[in-house]
Amino acid sequence: MSSSFVTPAEARVDLSAIRHNAALLKEVAGGAELMAAVKADAYGHGLVPCAEAALEGGASSLGVATIREAMALRDGGVIAPVLAWLIPPGEPIDEAVARHIDLSAGAPWLVEEIAASARRTGKTVNVHLKVDTGISRGGASAADWPELVEAALKAQAEGLIVIDGVWSHFASADIPGDPSIEAQLRAFDEASDLAKRAGITARRHIANSAAIVTLPQARYDLVRPGIALYGLSPIPHMGDFGLRPAMTLTAKLALVKKVPKGTGVSYGHLYTTKSDTTLGLIPLGYADGIMRNATNRAQVLVNDRRFTVAGRVCMDQFTIDLGDHPATEGDEVVLFGPGDRNEPTCQEWADSLGTITHEIVTRIGARVPRVHVRQGERE
Ligand SMILES: *Cc1c(COP(=O)(O)O)cnc(C)c1O
Repeated sequence: MSSSFVTPAEARVDLSAIRHNAALLKEVAGGAELMAAVKADAYGHGLVPCAEAALEGGASSLGVATIREAMALRDGGVIAPVLAWLIPPGEPIDEAVARHIDLSAGAPWLVEEIAASARRTGKTVNVHLKVDTGISRGGASAADWPELVEAALKAQAEGLIVIDGVWSHFASADIPGDPSIEAQLRAFDEASDLAKRAGITARRHIANSAAIVTLPQARYDLVRPGIALYGLSPIPHMGDFGLRPAMTLTAKLALVKKVPKGTGVSYGHLYTTKSDTTLGLIPLGYADGIMRNATNRAQVLVNDRRFTVAGRVCMDQFTIDLGDHPATEGDEVVLFGPGDRNEPTCQEWADSLGTITHEIVTRIGARVPRVHVRQGERE
C-alpha cells in the first residue's frame, strides 16, 4: 500500500491513549499487577500494537480468549506472558505449550489434557484454575472446585504444570451495589481459601474494568481490564474515570448530490426528505459493523455539524441528509471519537443503539483498516 493511498474509511487508534489508560488503571489498582485483556483483536483496536502499548503503560501480562489469539501475539513478536482462558476440546494445546502460552482450566479433563501436552512436549505449563463464583458461565462450580484443585495438584506434583493463578469473573461488577458482587467475593474467598489449605499459593484475580474502578477489595494480586484500557467507561453513568477513548472512526463522503423534497432514501424508503436538500453517502455499512438499527438513529459529524443517519443502513453504505450544509466528496465524516471536536462518542453510539461500547468497537469489520497513531506525542 503506497503512502498516498487514501482509504475510504479508517479506525484511527491512539496508542498513547491506551498507554495512558493502562498507567492510570495500574495506579488505581494499587499494588496489583495488570493483565491487559486484548481478546477480539484488542476489542477491535488491533491486537499487537495495542498489546505493546498496554505493556508500555505498565501491564505485565496479556489476556485473550482463545489459543489462536495468543499465538497471534507470539506471531507478532510479543514475548510477555499471555493467558488464554477459553479452551474447548480440540484446541491446539501442544502448540500453545510449545509457545509458552499460559492456560486457564475450569475442569479436570482440561487439566489432564494440558498435563498430557506438557508430558509430550517436555515443558511445564502455567495454569490458572477458574472457579465459577456466580456468573454461571466458565469455571468449576463450588461443588466441582475441590476435584479441580485435586487434579491440578496432582499434575503439579508430577512437574507438568505450575498452578499460577486462581481466578473468577464477575456477573455484574458494572452495577455498583448489586448483591451478586458481595456474594461472588465471598465465594471467591472460600474457593481460594480451600485451594490455599490444599497447598496452592497462586495469584488470585477476579476484577474486570468495572471492578477495578469501584471495588478496591476485588483487586487481589492481579486485575484484568478490557474496555477501560481502550478508554471507554466500564460504568457510563459514573463518568469517564479519567480514561481517554483511543478510537476515532472516520470515513470520506463518497458522494454528495441534490435531491428534491419528498425523495425516499435507501432500502424501504424509511427516510423521506422534507425539502429540497443534499444527500451525503458514507461508505460504511453493517458489513463494517455499522449496525442496521443505527437507521434513522445514530449521529455523525461532518465539518463541525452533526447529522443523523437518514434511512436504512445497508451492507456497505448509508446516507445522511446534509440540508444546506456545505460539504463535498472526500470531506471527512467522523462517526465517533473521543468527543473533543463535538463528534459523537462511542458511548453515544452505544446508547442510541441500546447496546454497550464493547459491541460497537469489536464489530468494526475487516474492511476498515486500523491506523495506529500516537496523538499525545505528536509534535
Ligand atoms: C473480557 C474479559 C475481561 C475484561 O472485561 P472488561 O469488562 O472489558 O474490563 C476480563 N476478564 C475476562 C475473563 C474477560 O473475558
